[in-house]
Amino acid sequence: MLDTTALAELLFPHVTLTPADMEARFPVRELPEGAVVSRMAPSPTGFVHLGNLVQGLTSERMCHQSGGLLFLRVEDTDAKREVPGAVKTLIEGLKHYDINFDEGATIDGDAGNYGPYRQRQRVEIYHVYAKQLVLQGEAYPCFCTEEELADIHAKQEAEKANFGYFGKWAVWRDRSMEEIKEALDKGMPYVLRFRSTGSIENKIKFTDLIKGNLELTENDIDHVLLKSDGIPTYHFAHAVDDHLMRTTHVVRGDEWLPTLPFHLQLFRSLGFKPPKYLHIGPLMKMDGESKRKLSKRKDPELALTYYRAAGFPVQSVYEYLMTVLNSNFEDWRRANPDAPVDSFKFSHKKMNPAGSLFDEAKLRDVSKNVISRMSAERVYDEVVSFAKDYDEALYAHLTADPDYAKSILAIGRGGKKPRKDFAVWTDVKPYLDFFYDDWFTVTDAYPEQFRTADIKAALEGFKATFNEADDATVWFDKIKAVADSMGFASDMKAYKENPAAYGGSVADVSMFLRVAVTGRMNSPDMYSAMQILGKDRVFARIDAMLQKL
Ligand code: GLU
Repeated sequence: MLDTTALAELLFPHVTLTPADMEARFPVRELPEGAVVSRMAPSPTGFVHLGNLVQGLTSERMCHQSGGLLFLRVEDTDAKREVPGAVKTLIEGLKHYDINFDEGATIDGDAGNYGPYRQRQRVEIYHVYAKQLVLQGEAYPCFCTEEELADIHAKQEAEKANFGYFGKWAVWRDRSMEEIKEALDKGMPYVLRFRSTGSIENKIKFTDLIKGNLELTENDIDHVLLKSDGIPTYHFAHAVDDHLMRTTHVVRGDEWLPTLPFHLQLFRSLGFKPPKYLHIGPLMKMDGESKRKLSKRKDPELALTYYRAAGFPVQSVYEYLMTVLNSNFEDWRRANPDAPVDSFKFSHKKMNPAGSLFDEAKLRDVSKNVISRMSAERVYDEVVSFAKDYDEALYAHLTADPDYAKSILAIGRGGKKPRKDFAVWTDVKPYLDFFYDDWFTVTDAYPEQFRTADIKAALEGFKATFNEADDATVWFDKIKAVADSMGFASDMKAYKENPAAYGGSVADVSMFLRVAVTGRMNSPDMYSAMQILGKDRVFARIDAMLQKL
């Protein structure tokens, strides 16, 4: 029998602290019954994606709705994948989407009593538990070289055996103290492996809060716990950290489901109560007739940076993801158009276990609704902030006279049925450019069926009676009078019943004016537009058109 106490001392002579010391250092949190403690645990690769946001949003809602807390742990155990500045990018990216942490890694260091919150700074903590597992006979050093492991793999392939380090392939599992010492004396690098007692003949029953009841195959692999540099693998760090940081709910992508049986073994061996798990299905998109997972390589919309650059407001992306995550969100929004989004009761029970379909057209629809409910003031602030980074000319125009810009953005806003003109902030410039003289051009031509004499008569007739002080009704009555005077129908119903009796209708007269004043056939409410432009500019544009005709 291997003397595990001696082996533990041999491998971890520097470790003097015990699991009991760790329990004392990181006590159970004092929180109300039912409070969810969860975390985001991203790797600092420099790429923040929509999946991070989906996971973050789910955790954030569950924590903050239950009086619990959310923390950020940086999983930097894979130094090869780390990109400088990635932690900052990550924190800022998430903050931009209203994912705020109560504790954990911050840009200027750590905040909270359960840290450090960066895994590479927690090595001494992992080693306490690594030593404990060795002591219990549940972990052992493995000195296999890359070549030996490749050789095992090749043999497994030839024998059509399952891959991995297990059973007869686990060549260091039962070595003697002498053999281990000899390898150590030679200075051979080693990894620490878990001694699994599981069998693939057995199934475990497990309830995931999103996926429901599952039956999973037990783990029989002696997975690596510590790499040769003493840094833990994800699996080992997950068990140690989520226990000591007192995580109650782990929300993560379902790519981790296959290793869950191993994680549960680890929790048991370490004497920890496992957290509750929520495994989120992937984000997918339609590709022709079939669905596929969003891919970093093929789909720019997977990156969070895509949405800001495309001009989507944060709130639109947020509400869209809510729509995707909770099947009842849209109905709630319809019933509560003006309620703050955080008054929606998010529930993980409404999440689709199979994952969610990402649909940019739907995002645009949601965004139109979201923007239509914003005040002119808010739209102004958002557009200015967008334009500052992405459209210098727009930024300069809007900030030159903020009140003027706000009056434009207020058109059609605030009523029961607000206009839905914008899905993204890049829609703003083509909508309001005609309000700025240096941008104004006539882009639409009058349809050929109309006689120039009629167009001229309409423009001149309008000028003859226009009074800036008129309200919208009087203003339109005057346009109707112009229509009547030229043999155009002022009553649309009468016109539709007998179009041949008229040269056109009041709608056409309005269109003549619209093209002259706004340069195009589709533009915001013309009465409001004329009020904002003022009589002098309206007349100047009409005169310029009369000259051209
Ligand atoms: N670092 C892991 C990842 O980025 C975290 C998974 C988890 O939340 O436990 O996938």
